[in-house]
Amino acid sequence: MNERYHPFIDRLAETRDRQRLEIGANIVGVEDAEQAFGQGAESIGLFRTEMIYMQREQAPDEKEQVTTYSKILTLAEERPVIIRTMDVGADKPVDYFELEEEENPFLGYRAIRLYPEFLDLFRIQVRAILIAARQKSVLVMIPMVSCLDEVLWVRDVIHTIQEEMGQDNEVYGSIRLGIMLEVPSACLIIDQLAPWVDFFSIGSNDLAQYFLAADRDNEKVGDLYSYLHPSFLRLLKMVTHETRQHQRWTGLCGEMAADLEALPLLVGLGLDEISLPGTFIPAIKEKLSHLDSSECRKLLDQAIACNSIQAVQALLRAFRSDVT
Ligand code: PEP
Ligand code: MG
Repeated sequence: MNERYHPFIDRLAETRDRQRLEIGANIVGVEDAEQAFGQGAESIGLFRTEMIYMQREQAPDEKEQVTTYSKILTLAEERPVIIRTMDVGADKPVDYFELEEEENPFLGYRAIRLYPEFLDLFRIQVRAILIAARQKSVLVMIPMVSCLDEVLWVRDVIHTIQEEMGQDNEVYGSIRLGIMLEVPSACLIIDQLAPWVDFFSIGSNDLAQYFLAADRDNEKVGDLYSYLHPSFLRLLKMVTHETRQHQRWTGLCGEMAADLEALPLLVGLGLDEISLPGTFIPAIKEKLSHLDSSECRKLLDQAIACNSIQAVQALLRAFRSDVT
């Protein structure tokens, strides 16, 4: 690691004018969590739990999941932990789900859309989280929500499990429920979703893919797939405005969060948190410390007024040479 980032590992993440921006970590398991906290992660902003379902013969049982979640909660100490429920399908295949081949897997059967059919597995995961949460409150996040009914369905399942546990004198811990904003339709009904959720996290990888109609993994459309598209930045501004209007904590956990050049735009959006791979955290904290939040807000408005991705990139390069 660059020497200059080292002092930032233990420093509170904030801008030059002391606007706070929590820096969380994206993790796939316990080891990752340990490393991320070693790099100064202030929270776990995204635990991609589908990774514990992958590359094995059958789903992890309740006991195994409780052990994994508990270890991460212990490592986190007082820091918040967002556990995303399994996001299986499309780019995250799991053989034993035996999902049929689809022409458009990204537009098909994945993530929350699988939960009603794989209800037993979803219930095991929710129970494991509720048990692990005895030790410390957990933030639970649902992937790929596209309409209100999905949120109401999830709430109902969780509520039923809590009631059953209560009846069986099984103690469960407190959780707060959030959703990922990664499907454009969800971004346009934040007023309807907000009463039913405690927080939002923007998944810029999928949101950009669905919003720009460009496959995130197809190099042929790589020039179109950019979170710096002015139209996408307009969407992000609209989303963060809406979530603020409804007083809902809002993070962003896609790859955009690890992009040093894009950081001023994220500060300009006024997000509460960004979550990224642990190794990037010290550099992001360092860069953040040089930024001024009102300059970042102005920059965001300039970026939104640009007429191409290239123009936004040029604007960010000029801004970088201004501040460093
Ligand atoms: C995203 O879509 O931005 C996201 C964080 O989820 P994943 O990359 O795991 O699909
Ligand atoms: Mg996603």
